[in-house]
Amino acid sequence: MTQILKNFINGTWQSSHSKETLDVINPANGQVLSKVPAGSKDDLNAAADAAHKAAKAWRNTPANDRIQYLFKMKSLLENHTDEIAEICTNESGKTFAESKAEMVRALENIEVACGIPVLMQSEFSEDIARGIDEFMIRQPIGTGACIVPFNFPIMITFWFMPYAIATGNTYIVKPSEKVPATMTRIFELFEQLNLPPGVLNMVHGGKETVDGILDNPHIQAISFVGSSQVAHYIYSRGSANGKRIQAQGGAKNPILIMPDADVEGTVKIVADSAFGCAGQRCLASSLVVLTKESAPIFLPKLIEAAQSKKCGYGMNEDVAMGPVITPESKTRVLELIEQGIAEGGNLALDGRNINIPGGEKGYFLGPCIIDNVKRGGTIHNTEIFGPVLGVMYAEDLDDAIDLINAAEYGNAASIFTHSGAAARKFRHDVMAGNIGVNIGVAAPMAHFPFSGWKKSFYGDLHAQSRHAVEFYTQTKVVIERWHNEWTRKF
Ligand code: NAD
Repeated sequence: MTQILKNFINGTWQSSHSKETLDVINPANGQVLSKVPAGSKDDLNAAADAAHKAAKAWRNTPANDRIQYLFKMKSLLENHTDEIAEICTNESGKTFAESKAEMVRALENIEVACGIPVLMQSEFSEDIARGIDEFMIRQPIGTGACIVPFNFPIMITFWFMPYAIATGNTYIVKPSEKVPATMTRIFELFEQLNLPPGVLNMVHGGKETVDGILDNPHIQAISFVGSSQVAHYIYSRGSANGKRIQAQGGAKNPILIMPDADVEGTVKIVADSAFGCAGQRCLASSLVVLTKESAPIFLPKLIEAAQSKKCGYGMNEDVAMGPVITPESKTRVLELIEQGIAEGGNLALDGRNINIPGGEKGYFLGPCIIDNVKRGGTIHNTEIFGPVLGVMYAEDLDDAIDLINAAEYGNAASIFTHSGAAARKFRHDVMAGNIGVNIGVAAPMAHFPFSGWKKSFYGDLHAQSRHAVEFYTQTKVVIERWHNEWTRKF
């Protein structure tokens, strides 16, 4: 019988109150791997009660003691990387190498969060007036939760959770219902951490669980990553309920290729960025902007590089690109390609009818390139989230920057050039939170915030680094004067 995944609440594995389940499917072959509870507010409320009860003792545990659990967490994950990566590949479709790369990013965040004793240190001003000192301390906010998307079943939880618990908060993780088995296995390993019950919980499900998080009075801070539409909903409902919210949304990341860019390197990096993870990456380059000088040099080579990507089951070593996540996702991508063509685009590379031996029931699409994407049209502004690269044209650097800034999203943008002046202008003028200069996937390291502007982010403090520390702590300012025992005066 197919396994029904359980929630991890108050240090124990518990069956969901929800009677409804959803199939967890391997997108490379359509096989049902397990079932996940559709979600229930009762499950979420039980986790929030447990987290709330555990909060006082946990915040009183010294930071140096709290991070000892993170050192153990890191070593547990390192020792089980291949096993976790295989589960991730089977439920998400990405390649084994891509799953392992996620793990590296997760570990980096744990490492940064291990610096909490320093990162939480206070500021102190002596003698703000005669005999009076003032200082600011950071204290945990209480209980936090993260709601994460399907496309990084390992990494994204670690943009938040290690910082939240290291700063003294208790926590609830809500994995994507499309890829819930990876985090379930990670939590099975976390049992070996022997954290106090209730400090770290995991609750499965979809909208009902999420709404439970948004409405539960015991939860004070919520980190969300997913599509912009849902990000906006989370931000609106969560903040209306008085919670602190950071909500990262979708993206449409342009790459400008200047005529002086290095040809071989640029082509390889851009093709990897566009088609890695089958284009289902919030930092994937989904638009290339060329000038009339750079187009003849780069477009034919980009098509060639895309064509050479082998698609298939991600556990096979020679596979560079897996399937998209669901049949609905594939249908949506196909419809958007049709729309791009109807708006005057030329499908310069057509991967729609790719045949994968053994993967006939999988949701595969080969790399597609739509040349001559219309300015202001559907492909310019819509996140496709599949292996489709649009090509647009600009007169010069200024025109390219205008074109990029006209978009609604502002997650990332890159320029490929040898010119320092062009790169400087680009990074200065482009309205996006993560900028790449000769970089295809401008993903910040764990000790920098994962920025994101415009429709790609709702909130102010971002994921990772000092931003995560600030998000999961509240500041308290103390102004202090002591009666002088010798002069008997203040
Ligand atoms: P999604 O918005 O469909 O789902 C994200 C999470 O929200 C899931 O846990 C899901 O259960 C929940 N959810 C979905 N619909 C909901 C609803 N109506 N009400 C309440 N909760 C709901 O996103 P996805 O398809 O899982 O992931 C892909 C999206 O995530 C893309 O748009 C991608 O760009 C974005 N993403 C952004 C970043 C970033 O850093 N900005 C990183 C990764 C992914």
